[in-house]
Amino acid sequence: MKIDVVKNVLAASEAQADLNRRRLNEAGVVAINIMSAPGSGKTTLLAKTIPALAPDSRCGVLVGDLQTTRDAEQLGGLGAAVVQINTGRGCHLSPAEVAEGLKRIDLAGIDFLFIENVGNMVCPAAFDLGEHVRAVLLSVPEGEDKVAKYPTLFQAADAILLTKVDLMEALNYNVATVREDLSRINTRAPLMEVSAQSGAGMDEWLAWLHGRLA
Ligand code: MG
Repeated sequence: MKIDVVKNVLAASEAQADLNRRRLNEAGVVAINIMSAPGSGKTTLLAKTIPALAPDSRCGVLVGDLQTTRDAEQLGGLGAAVVQINTGRGCHLSPAEVAEGLKRIDLAGIDFLFIENVGNMVCPAAFDLGEHVRAVLLSVPEGEDKVAKYPTLFQAADAILLTKVDLMEALNYNVATVREDLSRINTRAPLMEVSAQSGAGMDEWLAWLHGRLA
């Protein structure tokens, strides 16, 4: 009987994700699930991305964190519709939380919905939230070994952003290791080298986003 219960919970989660995707499709919104470790620069990337997409494309953001509204406050003044979701002890966003967030955003008024997942390299990868694509961030200060150590996160990615590349020289970063590890598990997703600080690589990221609208 216990096995049935677990199956039901998973099936309910997948059904909710499908409902979310249907709502987004009906509104013509492209949803991007953004995942990474804490501190990789998800919020900072969004703070540069939202103004760069305006005025042609309008954005909504669901921000997941265990506690605080700091990320929503950081993104609040940029003209996007921002909803903070506090998960308490939850190490990832759930489709049900995303459904609640969707109720608080006027989907007719946006083109992109960014779902900033809880900073975590393990749990978020296991949950379909109803997004269309997944963007995974890896920052230079985290080191070169994370693709090999956390393959499930990178396997599920449609785009991979190596962030904070302005620190590459100072940290003697070997991007070849990252590319080699990725070649074993995900040859589909582009690896973009970006710095929200210097603006490097942002054009490639924005072009990739525009490509998802088509
Ligand atoms: Mg954040």
